[in-house]
Amino acid sequence: MTAPITLTNKTAGPWVEIDLAALCANYAMLRDTAPGAETAAVVKCDGYGLGAGAVAAALAARENCRSFFVAYPEEGAALRAVLKNISPAPAIYVFNGPLPETMALFEEGNLIPVINNLEQARKWAERKPDAPAALHIDTGMNRLGAPPVELGDIAALKSLRIETVMSHLACANDPAHPKNNAQRKMFEELSQQFPGARRSLAASGGVMTDESCHFDLTRVGIALYGGSPFDAADDRIAPVAALKAPVVQIRQAAPGETVGYGAAHVVAEQTRLATVALGYGDGFPRAASGRGRGRAIINGEQASIVGRISMDLITLDITNSKRPVKTGDIAEFFGPNLAIHEAAAACGTISYELLTGLGGRVDRRYL
Ligand SMILES: *Cc1c(COP(=O)(O)O)cnc(C)c1O
Repeated sequence: MTAPITLTNKTAGPWVEIDLAALCANYAMLRDTAPGAETAAVVKCDGYGLGAGAVAAALAARENCRSFFVAYPEEGAALRAVLKNISPAPAIYVFNGPLPETMALFEEGNLIPVINNLEQARKWAERKPDAPAALHIDTGMNRLGAPPVELGDIAALKSLRIETVMSHLACANDPAHPKNNAQRKMFEELSQQFPGARRSLAASGGVMTDESCHFDLTRVGIALYGGSPFDAADDRIAPVAALKAPVVQIRQAAPGETVGYGAAHVVAEQTRLATVALGYGDGFPRAASGRGRGRAIINGEQASIVGRISMDLITLDITNSKRPVKTGDIAEFFGPNLAIHEAAAACGTISYELLTGLGGRVDRRYL
């Protein structure tokens, strides 16, 4: 395997600025919204693309965050190394429960597995009697988690120590959805089979909806990173990430000329164009091409994406810019001046996918 290429001339390509103070402010907001619960940070998928190590280190040092969730034990092992000097040692939970092949990673990293079925529960109890474990109960999402019929057998396992039971809401993006209440009720009932365990139901959306699903431990992800868990933006959340790229060429196109692959955009009048060093290869979705809503902010002004987004380049229409745009000027594709929620919608996706899709050429810069 070869290492991913990172750009040596960092100003020539795209970058994402990560405001760690804003991240910490979002953590504090989420913690204060659920004051009766501990607030765990979800840093799976490399901290939603923004760097799990930097994110977790900031939250641990500045906000005293002591519980983290990742998806894979490899992510947990890497996080343990980053947090090795934090005392007391943070708890690191792994959503994907243990497999025979990953058991050693759990042991070495002192990771807490989230058990997802009876089989995993048995194996963990055998291998690590009385070591702490969490249990994911499926309350109707039909994705991950133990089905209710298995809970009796899991609860009966002698050397299994379930310290946290959790479940996950399918419709937290829509606070009015009746499934939220149904899942909460089912969770309250089913979790009674594990009387000593802490209870955890809410991710960002659940925390910000109402206290009925706060319980003892929350698991917040997207809102930390400045994205809204809801279908609409939410002004309680501060922007954290700003995606920026430099203009690499300016040109003029006359009526009838076309822009980009497929000649898909035909110029109607004298048009000034700025070509920017960002493309779908960097994770900016090609689906934003031609939808008419894709845009960037350049020198404080809006510019529309025109033509198809290509692997390394995007073309912006700067005809109406009052301040002349020149090579080296910087275009912002989301950030403090253009909400990530809107940018994602213009790409036909959600902020989660936009962040986690950011590619290896996008330099991560911490403010
Ligand atoms: C990803 C994830 C979270 C975090 O969700 P956000 O909506 O990003 O806050 C919490 N719990 C589980 C089980 C998850 O998979």
